[in-house]
Amino acid sequence: MTTTPTTMPELFGSLVFTEETMQQRLSPASYAAWKKCITDGTSLDISIANEIAEAMKQWAVEHGATHFTHWFQPMTGVTAEKHDSFISPIGGGKIVMEFSGKELVRGEPDASSFPSGGLRATFEARGYTAWDPTSFAFIKDGSLCIPTIFCSYSGEALDKKTPLLRSMDEVSRQAVRILRLFGDTETKRVTAQVGPEQEYFLIDKKGYAQREDLRMCGRTLFGAKPPKGQELEDHYFGAIRPRVAAYMKDLDEELWKVGVLSKTKHNEVAPCQHEMAPIFSDANSACDHNQLAMELMKKVADRHGLVCLLHEKPFAGVNGSGKHDNWSLGTDTGKNLLKPGSTPSQNAQFLLFLAAFVKGVDEYQDFLRATVAFAGNDHRLGAQEAPPAVLSIFLGDELTAVVESIINGTKYTDAGKRTLEVGVDVLPAIRQDNTDRNRTSPMAFTGNKFEFRMLGSSQSISGPNIALNTMMAEELEQFADQLEKAKDFQAELQELIRKVFTEHQRIIFNGNGYDDAWIKEAEKRGLANLTSTADALPAYTAKKNMDLFIKHGIYTKEEIEARAEIHVENYVTTIGIEASTMSDMIRHQILPAVSRYASDLSERAWKKEQTGVSAKYERTVAKQIGELTDKLLDAAEKLESDLKAVPSDSVKAMDYTHKTILSDMAAARADADELETLTDRAYWPFPVYSDLLFYI
Ligand code: ADP
Ligand code: MG
Repeated sequence: MTTTPTTMPELFGSLVFTEETMQQRLSPASYAAWKKCITDGTSLDISIANEIAEAMKQWAVEHGATHFTHWFQPMTGVTAEKHDSFISPIGGGKIVMEFSGKELVRGEPDASSFPSGGLRATFEARGYTAWDPTSFAFIKDGSLCIPTIFCSYSGEALDKKTPLLRSMDEVSRQAVRILRLFGDTETKRVTAQVGPEQEYFLIDKKGYAQREDLRMCGRTLFGAKPPKGQELEDHYFGAIRPRVAAYMKDLDEELWKVGVLSKTKHNEVAPCQHEMAPIFSDANSACDHNQLAMELMKKVADRHGLVCLLHEKPFAGVNGSGKHDNWSLGTDTGKNLLKPGSTPSQNAQFLLFLAAFVKGVDEYQDFLRATVAFAGNDHRLGAQEAPPAVLSIFLGDELTAVVESIINGTKYTDAGKRTLEVGVDVLPAIRQDNTDRNRTSPMAFTGNKFEFRMLGSSQSISGPNIALNTMMAEELEQFADQLEKAKDFQAELQELIRKVFTEHQRIIFNGNGYDDAWIKEAEKRGLANLTSTADALPAYTAKKNMDLFIKHGIYTKEEIEARAEIHVENYVTTIGIEASTMSDMIRHQILPAVSRYASDLSERAWKKEQTGVSAKYERTVAKQIGELTDKLLDAAEKLESDLKAVPSDSVKAMDYTHKTILSDMAAARADADELETLTDRAYWPFPVYSDLLFYI
């Protein structure tokens, strides 16, 4: 039996079937076969799968596991699991614990209840899961969890992992071609590396339990502005209160046990808002780990009498939550391809990768925007808070000066001391603190990586990273096609970089992204400003975007159309649930409460006046409440009848929901919030913002 870990290095990954564990528990031949499968993408023989399964099971049972599950990421955006125990009868009422290679590599969950965006109609309802040997198995709640992909029986991806793995392979292939041109003969694989910073809210479970909107929708649908919000800016990086600190400590330990490299924790801008950032890893495990982190954040909160809200906008009037997706490309020899180098050749290579990124973001800005478009994130992007819905790249002053000197063919001067020619000169040092200043940019270069800041806190990071990897693969492929044929490599390289920066300079913007002037300027530059999900989602099926993903084998035409359909349906369903919850709370909680209060006020006024006491307060407020109550009833009736008229065609339903249902909801909320400010707290049917936000 295993002993309880006592030191941090022992604790970390103690519930993960790590490479080290494999090396210890597998025969050298099987370990080597697994390793080759990871590095070269070769398939595993069933006898080796059997040996791995046996070793995994033994290890899992020693760590208290009784079940195993294929752990996958269907299009719901959360993870799915179906647990089977290891037990196998051997007669005489006895069992042994068994787990075969077949069970490890392949499962057949019923796919019919997962979103398939129409793929289900075209293909078979059955689906299968297949082991992803590049992501380690781990133990959660007594089950051995095996990360898997999830496909339809005819092979269409029904999940978020399959296309991510495909896109990682593709960007690797194209990046290696570029590296060869610069004389790198060693690198075999280039890996997309990702570090997702995760924001969240923590509130007390008691308040949560009393709010139907939080329970049904993960966000408040009502709530007048409290006397204090985030104006004093006293929460950001503030001292962590003991109850939250205890939660964070517990969370870290849970994350470390399953191998999540949780590194940074701090308070965020809004009251009750916090952040957890892990150390970056390959995009595949970063995605798995972010899913695990979101799950554990909720689970651990429950143990502390708290609720973790991952919604993008749980409360109106204070900041919402996002996720910063830090992205770079690293070689298997340990080099970061987005890090400016120290020799002219390294710099030229860096500038070429930078040019590919700039070109890609410009050409696929609409698609990148679409990957972060869903109902929850609409409260952030293009609304009153950061970042804006317009995609642009922040490079910082120094790198922008370099780019401008390349475009203009002028010498780059750094305080008059240096000049720069691609492939000839050394780049000036790009200071990291300099590049990190701009917090308003949706895509910021931060010294050796790009930080994509438009993601919503609740979403899977898979979609945005698939898009980043694929657009990068496309641009690198174009560059490689051209440069591999070059007669004069240096000259063509210099010219290519100049041409790309010139043609795509419009996407570079270092100013304040929150400024209205930028929105006007962006329009002049011809940049897309897709302010809502309804505006952004059509980009999924725009021809140039479909062509990109089909060409690189990331999605088939059917897969991408299915995904677009799932996102549209998800938007309509989410807002439909919010609207129904709103109507429910108005009818069963708010209207009865304010009616009672107004009637009590009138009765009290009458009584007071009988004895000659003035009843100005009672009369005035009862009248105000009476009028607002009627208005709220009208608003609820309009919302309800409009909800019945949602068109059946999904795209029409999305537009209708966006225009009609959302404005009905805003109108109803305005009346309800005003009623809240007039009503005796003792009558108000649920906790208000000041109770929820300033309690822990
Ligand atoms: P902040 O953005 O808050 O200043 P950092 O820049 O230190 O914080 O890191 C933010 C995230 O970026 C962390 O998850 C970190 O591991 C990740 N990160 C750092 N370097 C890279 C890289 N080369 N590629 C991808 N992610 C990275
Ligand atoms: Mg950051």
